[in-house]
Amino acid sequence: MSRIERLAALLEVPLLVTSGVNVRYLTGLASSNAALLVDPGGEATLFTDFRYARRARTLESVRFEQTARAVIGDLATRLAGQTIGIEAHVLTLDSLHALRAGSVAAQPTSGLVERLRAIKEPAELESLRQAAAISDKVFGALAEERFAGRTELELAWRVRELFNEHGSSELSFDTMVAAADNGASPHSDNRDVAVLANTLVIIDAGCRVDGYASDCTRTFATGGLPDELARAYAVCLEAQLAGLEAMGPGVSGREADAAARDVIAAAGWAEEFGHGLGHGIGLEVHEAPAARPESTDTLEAGNVLSCEPGIYLAGVAGVRIEDMVLITDDGRERLTQVGKELVTVG
Ligand code: ZN
Ligand code: ZN
Repeated sequence: MSRIERLAALLEVPLLVTSGVNVRYLTGLASSNAALLVDPGGEATLFTDFRYARRARTLESVRFEQTARAVIGDLATRLAGQTIGIEAHVLTLDSLHALRAGSVAAQPTSGLVERLRAIKEPAELESLRQAAAISDKVFGALAEERFAGRTELELAWRVRELFNEHGSSELSFDTMVAAADNGASPHSDNRDVAVLANTLVIIDAGCRVDGYASDCTRTFATGGLPDELARAYAVCLEAQLAGLEAMGPGVSGREADAAARDVIAAAGWAEEFGHGLGHGIGLEVHEAPAARPESTDTLEAGNVLSCEPGIYLAGVAGVRIEDMVLITDDGRERLTQVGKELVTVG
């Protein structure tokens, strides 16, 4: 079954897909201004403006109707009197008001296309594998770089160069380089400050292949480490391996998270691991499924998600180790394969 047919099978009323990523997933059209109306019978009509019309006409899986630049306003007229489902997590309040002004009855839905996107098809997996393989090369090359004395901003620029050199010119998100105390918060801004010796440096980076993202983190040592940081690295690695080991089909996102979290808690750092273990990765860097304490997801074969425990020691440094993992019929496969033993750089 095609992606559109699989979506149609979940519907009782036509669904108006307005998430750009979801439209792209269902039709192949990358557009900043398109909507797709999918009928429960499997018919699909793509609406977009002049700028994307030529591309849209070439798509075989959908009918195409050109609209005004204000797609939703235009649709409010075309769909007047009808009842449709909307993506409540995406559609803006302005767009909802516009639909209602055209007497379109909107029923909220959430995550229908995202549920399909969580199970990767072979071609999607191939792109994810390639993106992960490029990440491996970049992190492998980073181990040969000098860190101490260069600023976090300089190192982030070097990461971008390495992705270009190894085959991807598109980053999946802004590279994070967080040395010493800057690494003590999970999301930090790169500083224009030289990296010091004898501390930890978190580098979280990824690229895209055919739109599919990679996401990998390694933490490097810039020389010999104080005992507390050496121990934090060892505990984080043990937790990451426990998280990986726990991931598999039928395992809940909550259970996978707990497997890693328990290791960190047993080391006395429960409060220092304040985020979830993992998130799905695909056309978006954060998508379904989620592995975290409040997750209601159950892992299934075909999911690709991260496994990324961290320990953040306020005022000192942080450590995070992140791999991309494919859930298989009988377990899991690591897509990022670059080594995880502590690497000491200059
Ligand atoms: Zn990451
Ligand atoms: Zn991640």
